[in-house]
Amino acid sequence: MTIDLANLNEITVRSDRAQTAVGAGNVWYDVYTTLQPMGLTVIGGRVSAIGVGGLTLGGGISFFSGRYGWACDNVNNYEVVLADGSIQEVSFSSPYSDLYWALRGGGNNFGIVTRFDLMTFPQGDLWAGSETFIYTPETAAAINDAFYFLGVNAPSDPYAQVITAYAYAQSVDAYIIASDLQYGKPVANPPILQNFTAVQGAIASTLRIVDQANLTIEFNDTNPGGFRYVSNPQDTNYKPSLNQDCRQTYWTLMVGNNATLMADMVAIYMDEIEPLKSVAGLVPSLVFQPITTDMILHFSKNGGNALGLDNQGPLNLVQIDISWSDIADDDRILTAAQNILDGCQAAASAVGLLNKYLYQNYASVGQGVFSGYGQNNLARLKAVSAKYDPAQVFQKLQPGYFKLN
Ligand SMILES: Cc1cc2nc3c(=O)[nH]c(=O)nc-3n(C[C@H](O)[C@H](O)[C@H](O)COP(=O)(O)OP(=O)(O)OC[C@H]3O[C@@H](n4cnc5c(N)ncnc54)[C@H](O)[C@@H]3O)c2cc1C
Repeated sequence: MTIDLANLNEITVRSDRAQTAVGAGNVWYDVYTTLQPMGLTVIGGRVSAIGVGGLTLGGGISFFSGRYGWACDNVNNYEVVLADGSIQEVSFSSPYSDLYWALRGGGNNFGIVTRFDLMTFPQGDLWAGSETFIYTPETAAAINDAFYFLGVNAPSDPYAQVITAYAYAQSVDAYIIASDLQYGKPVANPPILQNFTAVQGAIASTLRIVDQANLTIEFNDTNPGGFRYVSNPQDTNYKPSLNQDCRQTYWTLMVGNNATLMADMVAIYMDEIEPLKSVAGLVPSLVFQPITTDMILHFSKNGGNALGLDNQGPLNLVQIDISWSDIADDDRILTAAQNILDGCQAAASAVGLLNKYLYQNYASVGQGVFSGYGQNNLARLKAVSAKYDPAQVFQKLQPGYFKLN
Protein backbone atom coordinates (compact mmCIF):
# COMPACT_ATOMS: atom_id res chain seq x y z
CA MET A 1 0.00 0.00 0.00
CA THR A 2 1.34 3.41 -0.95
CA ILE A 3 0.19 6.52 0.88
CA ASP A 4 0.45 9.45 -1.50
CA LEU A 5 0.59 12.81 0.27
CA ALA A 6 0.70 14.95 -2.88
CA ASN A 7 -2.75 16.47 -2.37
CA LEU A 8 -1.84 17.68 1.12
CA ASN A 9 -0.61 20.85 -0.52
CA GLU A 10 -1.85 23.60 1.79
CA ILE A 11 0.46 26.61 2.27
CA THR A 12 -1.20 29.13 4.61
CA VAL A 13 0.56 32.02 6.29
CA ARG A 14 -0.83 32.97 9.71
CA SER A 15 -2.07 36.55 10.03
CA ASP A 16 0.90 37.56 12.20
CA ARG A 17 3.22 36.28 9.40
CA ALA A 18 5.32 34.34 11.94
CA GLN A 19 4.10 30.84 11.05
CA THR A 20 3.10 28.95 7.89
CA ALA A 21 0.98 25.81 7.77
CA VAL A 22 2.62 23.61 5.12
CA GLY A 23 0.91 20.43 3.94
CA ALA A 24 3.27 17.45 3.92
CA GLY A 25 2.79 16.89 0.19
CA ASN A 26 4.51 20.12 -0.86
CA VAL A 27 7.91 20.47 -2.44
CA TRP A 28 10.08 23.37 -1.32
CA TYR A 29 9.77 25.31 -4.57
CA ASP A 30 6.04 25.69 -4.06
CA VAL A 31 6.57 26.81 -0.48
CA TYR A 32 9.15 29.43 -1.46
CA THR A 33 7.23 30.81 -4.45
CA THR A 34 4.16 31.24 -2.23
CA LEU A 35 6.05 33.03 0.56
CA GLN A 36 8.49 35.05 -1.53
CA PRO A 37 6.01 37.68 -2.80
CA MET A 38 5.19 38.37 0.87
CA GLY A 39 8.90 38.88 1.68
CA LEU A 40 8.85 35.77 3.87
CA THR A 41 10.43 32.35 4.01
CA VAL A 42 10.91 29.25 6.19
CA ILE A 43 13.80 26.91 6.97
CA GLY A 44 13.69 24.23 4.26
CA GLY A 45 15.56 22.54 1.43
CA ARG A 46 17.94 24.11 -1.06
CA VAL A 47 16.72 22.22 -4.14
CA SER A 48 13.36 23.00 -5.70
CA ALA A 49 12.02 19.46 -6.22
CA ILE A 50 12.78 18.10 -2.74
CA GLY A 51 9.84 17.28 -0.50
CA VAL A 52 8.92 18.96 2.76
CA GLY A 53 8.25 15.68 4.62
CA GLY A 54 11.44 13.65 4.44
CA LEU A 55 13.79 16.62 4.62
CA THR A 56 12.14 18.08 7.72
CA LEU A 57 11.77 14.77 9.59
CA GLY A 58 15.43 13.85 9.05
CA GLY A 59 16.94 17.24 9.96
CA GLY A 60 16.95 19.65 7.04
CA ILE A 61 19.86 21.95 6.19
CA SER A 62 18.80 25.26 4.65
CA PHE A 63 20.43 28.40 3.24
CA PHE A 64 19.67 30.06 6.58
CA SER A 65 20.66 27.35 9.07
CA GLY A 66 23.46 29.48 10.55
CA ARG A 67 20.79 31.91 11.75
CA TYR A 68 18.05 29.48 12.71
CA GLY A 69 19.29 25.86 12.85
CA TRP A 70 17.95 22.99 10.78
CA ALA A 71 14.39 22.58 9.48
CA CYS A 72 13.49 20.24 12.35
CA ASP A 73 14.39 23.04 14.79
CA ASN A 74 11.88 25.38 13.22
CA VAL A 75 8.69 23.32 13.25
CA ASN A 76 6.36 24.90 15.81
CA ASN A 77 3.78 22.14 15.52
CA TYR A 78 3.21 18.88 13.65
CA GLU A 79 -0.17 17.44 12.70
CA VAL A 80 0.44 13.69 12.88
CA VAL A 81 -1.56 10.55 12.16
CA LEU A 82 -0.48 8.04 14.80
CA ALA A 83 -0.42 4.26 14.48
CA ASP A 84 -3.87 4.00 16.11
CA GLY A 85 -5.30 6.27 13.41
CA SER A 86 -5.82 9.26 15.69
CA ILE A 87 -4.82 12.70 14.47
CA GLN A 88 -2.83 14.76 17.00
CA GLU A 89 -1.39 18.27 17.16
CA VAL A 90 2.15 17.86 18.44
CA SER A 91 4.14 20.79 19.81
CA PHE A 92 6.57 21.48 22.66
CA SER A 93 3.76 22.86 24.83
CA SER A 94 1.25 20.10 23.95
CA PRO A 95 0.72 16.89 25.95
CA TYR A 96 2.89 15.25 23.26
CA SER A 97 6.16 17.06 23.98
CA ASP A 98 8.04 13.72 24.02
CA LEU A 99 6.77 12.96 20.52
CA TYR A 100 7.62 16.52 19.45
CA TRP A 101 11.24 15.89 20.47
CA ALA A 102 11.30 12.53 18.66
CA LEU A 103 9.93 13.98 15.41
CA ARG A 104 12.86 16.42 15.34
CA GLY A 105 15.21 14.03 13.55
CA GLY A 106 13.38 10.74 14.13
CA GLY A 107 12.37 10.28 10.48
CA ASN A 108 9.38 8.14 9.55
CA ASN A 109 9.34 6.09 12.78
CA PHE A 110 6.48 7.70 14.70
CA GLY A 111 3.58 8.53 12.42
CA ILE A 112 2.60 10.18 9.19
CA VAL A 113 2.93 13.92 9.42
CA THR A 114 0.19 15.60 7.43
CA ARG A 115 1.02 19.25 8.22
CA PHE A 116 4.10 21.12 9.42
CA ASP A 117 3.54 24.53 11.07
CA LEU A 118 6.81 26.24 10.24
CA MET A 119 8.41 29.25 11.92
CA THR A 120 8.33 32.02 9.31
CA PHE A 121 10.62 35.04 9.01
CA PRO A 122 11.25 37.99 6.67
CA GLN A 123 13.76 37.25 3.91
CA GLY A 124 14.67 39.00 0.68
CA ASP A 125 17.21 38.20 -2.01
CA LEU A 126 20.52 36.45 -1.39
CA TRP A 127 23.95 36.73 -2.93
CA ALA A 128 24.64 33.20 -4.04
CA GLY A 129 25.69 30.80 -6.75
CA SER A 130 28.42 28.40 -7.68
CA GLU A 131 32.09 28.87 -8.56
CA THR A 132 33.70 26.01 -10.49
CA PHE A 133 37.39 25.20 -10.85
CA ILE A 134 39.40 22.50 -12.59
CA TYR A 135 41.04 20.48 -9.83
CA THR A 136 44.70 21.12 -9.12
CA PRO A 137 46.35 20.37 -5.77
CA GLU A 138 46.99 24.12 -5.31
CA THR A 139 43.40 25.14 -6.01
CA ALA A 140 42.14 22.34 -3.77
CA ALA A 141 44.42 23.46 -0.94
CA ALA A 142 43.19 27.06 -1.23
CA ILE A 143 39.54 26.00 -1.25
CA ASN A 144 40.00 23.57 1.64
CA ASP A 145 41.62 26.37 3.65
CA ALA A 146 38.73 28.70 2.81
CA PHE A 147 36.32 25.99 3.95
CA TYR A 148 38.22 25.49 7.20
CA PHE A 149 38.24 29.21 7.97
CA LEU A 150 34.54 29.54 7.20
CA GLY A 151 33.88 26.84 9.81
CA VAL A 152 35.96 28.75 12.34
CA ASN A 153 34.68 32.23 11.48
CA ALA A 154 30.99 31.45 10.90
CA PRO A 155 29.79 32.70 14.30
CA SER A 156 31.02 36.19 13.33
CA ASP A 157 28.56 36.23 10.41
CA PRO A 158 25.94 33.46 10.39
CA TYR A 159 24.51 34.68 7.07
CA ALA A 160 27.18 32.74 5.14
CA GLN A 161 27.01 29.11 4.06
CA VAL A 162 28.89 26.95 1.60
CA ILE A 163 28.71 23.55 -0.05
CA THR A 164 32.04 22.44 -1.58
CA ALA A 165 31.89 19.52 -4.00
CA TYR A 166 34.68 17.57 -5.68
CA ALA A 167 33.43 15.79 -8.78
CA TYR A 168 34.74 13.97 -11.84
CA ALA A 169 33.41 15.46 -15.10
CA GLN A 170 33.43 12.88 -17.89
CA SER A 171 32.84 15.56 -20.55
CA VAL A 172 36.24 17.14 -19.90
CA ASP A 173 37.92 14.08 -18.35
CA ALA A 174 38.95 16.12 -15.30
CA TYR A 175 38.14 16.50 -11.65
CA ILE A 176 36.42 19.74 -10.82
CA ILE A 177 35.74 21.61 -7.59
CA ALA A 178 32.51 23.53 -7.22
CA SER A 179 31.80 25.75 -4.25
CA ASP A 180 28.19 26.81 -3.81
CA LEU A 181 28.40 30.05 -1.82
CA GLN A 182 25.33 31.51 -0.15
CA TYR A 183 25.00 34.78 1.72
CA GLY A 184 21.57 35.53 3.18
CA LYS A 185 21.62 39.23 2.27
CA PRO A 186 21.79 40.93 -1.15
CA VAL A 187 25.42 41.91 -0.52
CA ALA A 188 28.03 40.92 -3.11
CA ASN A 189 31.22 39.20 -2.00
CA PRO A 190 30.92 39.70 1.79
CA PRO A 191 34.18 39.50 3.80
CA ILE A 192 33.21 36.15 5.39
CA LEU A 193 33.29 34.47 1.94
CA GLN A 194 36.31 36.27 0.49
CA ASN A 195 38.70 33.38 1.17
CA PHE A 196 36.65 31.53 -1.46
CA THR A 197 36.30 34.34 -3.96
CA ALA A 198 40.03 35.13 -3.72
CA VAL A 199 40.87 31.75 -5.27
CA GLN A 200 41.93 32.42 -8.86
CA GLY A 201 41.08 30.49 -12.01
CA ALA A 202 37.34 29.77 -11.84
CA ILE A 203 36.11 28.35 -15.15
CA ALA A 204 32.50 29.29 -14.38
CA SER A 205 30.65 31.37 -11.83
CA THR A 206 26.95 31.95 -11.25
CA LEU A 207 27.42 34.21 -8.23
CA ARG A 208 24.85 36.99 -8.30
CA ILE A 209 21.99 38.54 -6.33
CA VAL A 210 19.16 36.05 -6.64
CA ASP A 211 15.85 35.16 -5.03
CA GLN A 212 15.55 31.96 -3.07
CA ALA A 213 13.14 30.14 -5.40
CA ASN A 214 15.38 30.73 -8.43
CA LEU A 215 18.43 29.62 -6.47
CA THR A 216 16.69 26.31 -5.69
CA ILE A 217 16.10 25.84 -9.43
CA GLU A 218 19.82 26.33 -10.13
CA PHE A 219 20.67 23.76 -7.46
CA ASN A 220 18.04 21.41 -8.90
CA ASP A 221 19.72 21.60 -12.30
CA THR A 222 23.10 20.70 -10.81
CA ASN A 223 21.53 17.88 -8.72
CA PRO A 224 19.42 15.98 -11.23
CA GLY A 225 16.84 13.66 -9.70
CA GLY A 226 16.97 9.89 -9.52
CA PHE A 227 14.75 7.86 -11.81
CA ARG A 228 13.46 9.87 -14.68
CA TYR A 229 9.74 9.99 -14.10
CA VAL A 230 7.56 12.49 -15.89
CA SER A 231 4.19 13.57 -14.59
CA ASN A 232 2.29 12.48 -17.69
CA PRO A 233 2.98 8.85 -18.64
CA GLN A 234 1.51 9.55 -22.10
CA ASP A 235 4.46 11.86 -22.69
CA THR A 236 6.65 10.51 -25.48
CA ASN A 237 9.72 11.04 -23.29
CA TYR A 238 8.45 8.68 -20.61
CA LYS A 239 11.08 5.98 -20.06
CA PRO A 240 10.26 3.38 -17.46
CA SER A 241 13.41 1.34 -18.11
CA LEU A 242 15.87 1.45 -15.24
CA ASN A 243 18.80 0.98 -17.58
CA GLN A 244 18.19 4.25 -19.37
CA ASP A 245 17.64 6.33 -16.29
CA CYS A 246 19.74 7.97 -13.66
CA ARG A 247 20.71 5.86 -10.68
CA GLN A 248 22.03 7.51 -7.54
CA THR A 249 23.47 6.62 -4.15
CA TYR A 250 24.17 8.76 -1.08
CA TRP A 251 26.50 7.88 1.82
CA THR A 252 27.65 10.04 4.69
CA LEU A 253 30.00 10.62 7.59
CA MET A 254 30.73 13.49 9.95
CA VAL A 255 34.27 14.63 10.76
CA GLY A 256 36.02 17.51 12.50
CA ASN A 257 36.89 20.67 10.60
CA ASN A 258 40.37 20.12 9.19
CA ALA A 259 41.79 21.05 5.75
CA THR A 260 44.44 18.31 5.72
CA LEU A 261 41.81 15.68 6.41
CA MET A 262 39.72 17.07 3.54
CA ALA A 263 42.68 16.61 1.16
CA ASP A 264 43.19 13.05 2.45
CA MET A 265 39.52 12.22 1.85
CA VAL A 266 39.67 13.69 -1.65
CA ALA A 267 42.68 11.46 -2.42
CA ILE A 268 40.76 8.38 -1.20
CA TYR A 269 37.76 9.36 -3.33
CA MET A 270 39.94 9.87 -6.44
CA ASP A 271 41.64 6.49 -6.00
CA GLU A 272 38.26 4.78 -6.04
CA ILE A 273 36.85 6.80 -8.93
CA GLU A 274 39.89 6.37 -11.18
CA PRO A 275 38.96 2.85 -12.44
CA LEU A 276 35.31 3.89 -12.88
CA LYS A 277 35.88 6.85 -15.16
CA SER A 278 34.30 5.19 -18.19
CA VAL A 279 31.14 4.02 -16.38
CA ALA A 280 28.11 5.23 -18.34
CA GLY A 281 26.60 8.43 -16.96
CA LEU A 282 29.05 8.60 -14.06
CA VAL A 283 28.82 11.69 -11.85
CA PRO A 284 30.68 10.99 -8.61
CA SER A 285 30.93 13.71 -5.97
CA LEU A 286 32.50 14.11 -2.58
CA VAL A 287 30.67 16.96 -0.89
CA PHE A 288 31.63 18.96 2.20
CA GLN A 289 29.39 21.24 4.28
CA PRO A 290 30.43 23.11 7.42
CA ILE A 291 28.23 22.37 10.43
CA THR A 292 29.04 25.42 12.46
CA THR A 293 28.83 26.06 16.17
CA ASP A 294 26.20 28.78 15.66
CA MET A 295 24.08 26.32 13.67
CA ILE A 296 24.31 23.69 16.41
CA LEU A 297 23.35 26.24 19.11
CA HIS A 298 19.85 26.34 17.56
CA PHE A 299 19.46 22.57 18.01
CA SER A 300 18.49 23.18 21.64
CA LYS A 301 15.40 25.29 20.86
CA ASN A 302 12.12 24.11 22.43
CA GLY A 303 13.53 21.18 24.37
CA GLY A 304 16.14 20.25 21.79
CA ASN A 305 16.17 17.85 18.86
CA ALA A 306 16.91 14.12 18.75
CA LEU A 307 20.05 14.30 16.60
CA GLY A 308 22.55 13.97 19.43
CA LEU A 309 24.91 16.61 18.04
CA ASP A 310 25.98 18.73 20.97
CA ASN A 311 28.28 21.63 20.46
CA GLN A 312 31.49 19.91 19.49
CA GLY A 313 31.81 21.89 16.25
CA PRO A 314 32.74 23.24 13.90
CA LEU A 315 32.22 20.00 12.01
CA ASN A 316 32.39 18.93 8.39
CA LEU A 317 29.41 16.97 7.04
CA VAL A 318 30.72 14.70 4.27
CA GLN A 319 28.47 13.25 1.59
CA ILE A 320 29.44 10.70 -1.03
CA ASP A 321 27.00 11.15 -3.91
CA ILE A 322 27.35 9.04 -7.07
CA SER A 323 25.05 8.95 -10.10
CA TRP A 324 25.33 6.52 -13.02
CA SER A 325 23.02 5.11 -15.68
CA ASP A 326 23.35 1.37 -16.12
CA ILE A 327 21.99 -1.18 -13.67
CA ALA A 328 24.88 -3.45 -14.67
CA ASP A 329 27.30 -1.07 -12.92
CA ASP A 330 25.46 -1.12 -9.58
CA ASP A 331 27.87 -3.49 -7.84
CA ARG A 332 31.01 -1.63 -8.91
CA ILE A 333 29.59 1.72 -7.88
CA LEU A 334 28.28 0.57 -4.52
CA THR A 335 31.58 -1.17 -3.74
CA ALA A 336 33.45 2.04 -4.57
CA ALA A 337 31.09 4.10 -2.38
CA GLN A 338 31.61 1.70 0.51
CA ASN A 339 35.39 1.86 0.01
CA ILE A 340 35.35 5.66 -0.02
CA LEU A 341 33.29 5.68 3.16
CA ASP A 342 35.55 3.15 4.90
CA GLY A 343 38.67 5.00 3.79
CA CYS A 344 37.38 8.40 4.92
CA GLN A 345 36.25 7.01 8.27
CA ALA A 346 39.64 5.41 8.81
CA ALA A 347 41.46 8.62 7.86
CA ALA A 348 39.33 10.69 10.23
CA SER A 349 39.61 8.15 12.99
CA ALA A 350 43.41 8.04 12.67
CA VAL A 351 43.60 11.75 13.52
CA GLY A 352 40.87 11.64 16.18
CA LEU A 353 38.36 13.57 14.05
CA LEU A 354 35.67 10.98 13.33
CA ASN A 355 32.29 11.99 14.77
CA LYS A 356 29.72 9.25 15.43
CA TYR A 357 26.84 11.26 13.98
CA LEU A 358 25.39 10.24 10.59
CA TYR A 359 23.02 12.61 8.80
CA GLN A 360 19.90 10.57 8.04
CA ASN A 361 19.02 12.48 4.89
CA TYR A 362 22.38 11.68 3.27
CA ALA A 363 22.87 8.16 4.65
CA SER A 364 23.03 4.93 2.69
CA VAL A 365 20.64 2.12 3.42
CA GLY A 366 23.07 0.08 5.52
CA GLN A 367 24.32 2.95 7.69
CA GLY A 368 23.17 2.75 11.32
CA VAL A 369 21.84 6.28 11.52
CA PHE A 370 20.20 6.08 14.93
CA SER A 371 23.13 4.56 16.78
CA GLY A 372 24.95 7.74 15.75
CA TYR A 373 22.41 9.77 17.75
CA GLY A 374 23.94 8.34 20.94
CA GLN A 375 22.74 5.61 23.29
CA ASN A 376 20.59 7.89 25.43
CA ASN A 377 18.78 9.46 22.51
CA LEU A 378 18.23 6.09 20.85
CA ALA A 379 16.76 4.68 24.08
CA ARG A 380 14.52 7.74 24.36
CA LEU A 381 13.39 7.40 20.75
CA LYS A 382 12.56 3.73 21.28
CA ALA A 383 10.55 4.61 24.40
CA VAL A 384 8.54 7.22 22.47
CA SER A 385 7.95 4.68 19.69
CA ALA A 386 6.76 2.05 22.21
CA LYS A 387 4.41 4.59 23.82
CA TYR A 388 2.72 5.88 20.66
CA ASP A 389 3.07 2.80 18.47
CA PRO A 390 2.89 -0.23 20.78
CA ALA A 391 2.30 -2.67 17.91
CA GLN A 392 5.31 -1.14 16.09
CA VAL A 393 3.38 -0.42 12.90
CA PHE A 394 5.96 2.08 11.68
CA GLN A 395 8.90 -0.19 12.54
CA LYS A 396 7.56 -3.42 11.10
CA LEU A 397 4.84 -2.74 8.55
CA GLN A 398 6.31 0.33 6.93
CA PRO A 399 9.31 -0.46 4.74
CA GLY A 400 11.93 2.05 3.75
CA TYR A 401 14.22 4.65 5.24
CA PHE A 402 15.84 4.21 8.66
CA LYS A 403 14.39 2.21 11.54
CA LEU A 404 15.10 2.59 15.23
CA ASN A 405 15.90 -1.10 15.54
C1 LIG B 1 18.76 16.70 -5.15
C2 LIG B 1 18.73 16.64 -3.66
C3 LIG B 1 18.92 17.80 -2.92
C4 LIG B 1 18.85 17.77 -1.53
N1 LIG B 1 19.03 18.92 -0.81
C5 LIG B 1 18.99 18.89 0.53
C6 LIG B 1 19.14 20.07 1.31
O1 LIG B 1 19.29 21.17 0.80
N2 LIG B 1 19.14 19.96 2.64
C7 LIG B 1 18.95 18.77 3.27
O2 LIG B 1 18.98 18.74 4.51
N3 LIG B 1 18.77 17.63 2.57
C8 LIG B 1 18.79 17.66 1.23
N4 LIG B 1 18.62 16.51 0.51
C9 LIG B 1 18.36 15.26 1.23
C10 LIG B 1 16.87 15.16 1.53
O3 LIG B 1 16.62 15.84 2.74
C11 LIG B 1 16.41 13.70 1.63
O4 LIG B 1 16.60 13.07 0.39
C12 LIG B 1 14.96 13.62 2.08
O5 LIG B 1 14.64 12.27 2.35
C13 LIG B 1 14.01 14.16 1.04
O6 LIG B 1 12.71 14.15 1.52
P1 LIG B 1 11.46 13.88 0.53
O7 LIG B 1 10.23 14.12 1.29
O8 LIG B 1 11.70 14.62 -0.75
O9 LIG B 1 11.70 12.34 0.18
P2 LIG B 1 10.80 11.05 0.41
O10 LIG B 1 11.55 9.95 -0.25
O11 LIG B 1 9.40 11.31 0.04
O12 LIG B 1 10.83 10.85 1.98
C14 LIG B 1 11.92 10.25 2.65
C15 LIG B 1 11.36 9.36 3.75
O13 LIG B 1 10.68 10.17 4.69
C16 LIG B 1 9.41 9.62 4.98
N5 LIG B 1 8.42 10.69 4.90
C17 LIG B 1 8.29 11.63 3.96
N6 LIG B 1 7.26 12.44 4.26
C18 LIG B 1 6.72 11.99 5.40
C19 LIG B 1 5.64 12.40 6.22
N7 LIG B 1 4.90 13.45 5.89
N8 LIG B 1 5.36 11.69 7.34
C20 LIG B 1 6.11 10.62 7.68
N9 LIG B 1 7.16 10.19 6.96
C21 LIG B 1 7.46 10.87 5.83
C22 LIG B 1 9.10 8.56 3.95
O14 LIG B 1 8.76 7.38 4.64
C23 LIG B 1 10.37 8.36 3.18
O15 LIG B 1 10.89 7.07 3.38
C24 LIG B 1 18.62 16.54 -0.87
C25 LIG B 1 18.41 15.39 -1.63
C26 LIG B 1 18.45 15.42 -3.01
C27 LIG B 1 18.20 14.16 -3.80
